[in-house]
Amino acid sequence: MKVLIVGAGIAGPTLAFWLNRSGHEVTIVEHSPTLRSGGYLIDFWGAGFDVAQQMGIVPELRKRGYIFAEARAIDRNGRKIASFNPEAVIESNKRYLSIPRADLAEVIYDALGGAVELLLGDTVRDLVDDGKHVRVTFESGSIRDFDLVIGADGLHSRVRKLAFGPDEQFEKYLGLVVAAFDAEQYPQRDELVAMMYAEVGFQAIRLSFRDDATLILFTMRHDGDIPIERTEQEKLLHEKLGGKGWELPEMLAVMANAKNFYFDSASQIRMPAWSTGRIALVGDAAAGPSFLAGQGSALAMVEGYTLAAELARTDDHSEAFARYEARLAPLVRSKQDAAQRLGLAFAPKNRFQLFVRNSVLKTMGLPKVAKLAMGRSFHDRVELPSFPEQTPAH
Ligand SMILES: Cc1cc2nc3c(=O)[nH]c(=O)nc-3n(C[C@H](O)[C@H](O)[C@H](O)COP(=O)(O)OP(=O)(O)OC[C@H]3O[C@@H](n4cnc5c(N)ncnc54)[C@H](O)[C@@H]3O)c2cc1C
Repeated sequence: MKVLIVGAGIAGPTLAFWLNRSGHEVTIVEHSPTLRSGGYLIDFWGAGFDVAQQMGIVPELRKRGYIFAEARAIDRNGRKIASFNPEAVIESNKRYLSIPRADLAEVIYDALGGAVELLLGDTVRDLVDDGKHVRVTFESGSIRDFDLVIGADGLHSRVRKLAFGPDEQFEKYLGLVVAAFDAEQYPQRDELVAMMYAEVGFQAIRLSFRDDATLILFTMRHDGDIPIERTEQEKLLHEKLGGKGWELPEMLAVMANAKNFYFDSASQIRMPAWSTGRIALVGDAAAGPSFLAGQGSALAMVEGYTLAAELARTDDHSEAFARYEARLAPLVRSKQDAAQRLGLAFAPKNRFQLFVRNSVLKTMGLPKVAKLAMGRSFHDRVELPSFPEQTPAH
């Protein structure tokens, strides 16, 4: 089949990899003029790790990724109030690493070995599904027919808008915004330590890694409109975080010069169905769990893999779409529900939540507690379907 995938992030190239292996003719369209670089760091674990293993990309991910030595909660004066060693958990399973999101996307894309058509700097303007194929009008003006169109275009998916309707129906705002940026030659460094400072309403994290690189991440409660322009976003951060303790003044000062600046809402996508006719969604576009879940990338890979596997098992795309959703929706919903309860860890609403957050972090310092609390979540209860001529993943 001729398949158009919209979006070259995590889900899109994963899906392309497996569709290509099944002999489908794949085109990816990405609206950015280049594959995106830089950006925030993600933790990568869970069932997505199994998919990465099957793609043969884990060695490259390990090369580019990091294993953090410590997560340290500090107070407004930079004094340690709690410390947690991720190694206590990682040691037992080796199924965890942290990596820039753009590196994960690039490694997945590189695994394609140029086998699929990539259209950069373009996107879809209109989709007409006549039951036999989907006629796609691109922003560039060209018109092409595809058997299937898959939206892998993230949280604010255009495919979702075109095929299913406005975002308001599906987007659930969790009351937080997130900002992340690289700080070049930032003077304070604690290599491979995640430094975390929270007060009521926000958390600031500093991560120092290779090549003198520093990533700063703010998560913040916010009830008003979400600003679109970077200047407005920075203004909001200054308003809410100005005058706070620790390194907040320095962090806000370097923000203006940051080359990679990311700002968005923490939202989830909850849809009654992930497909309609010959159009389906994967990754954040279908069921974004928000960054609070700490697993959106892994889920995006599992979704891309599963959709391709189901399409390989039948000629009936409707049946494949239905099985893909039935297999994964319960897992994704449970991750979404769990993420909704995690707001207090990223930006406590009040003093009580701050107290709970700090107390939990203190107990995580006890090795057995950390293992008990985290260990089970490294194994998602999901069975990856096998491809017709492959052995099952579990
Ligand atoms: C601050 C932060 C921290 C996070 N931490 C983690 C973590 O620790 N662990 C984890 O697993 N996940 C984490 N996530 C979530 C993770 O990044 C996403 O769940 C994941 O990237 C989803 O992959 P995707 O391919 O569906 O979407 P994306 O990665 O967003 O990719 C979408 C792609 O589509 C392109 N695109 C968008 N619109 C169009 C269009 N109209 N036409 C064509 N192309 C388009 C985009 O440019 C992009 O390349 C975090 C997210 C944030 C914001």
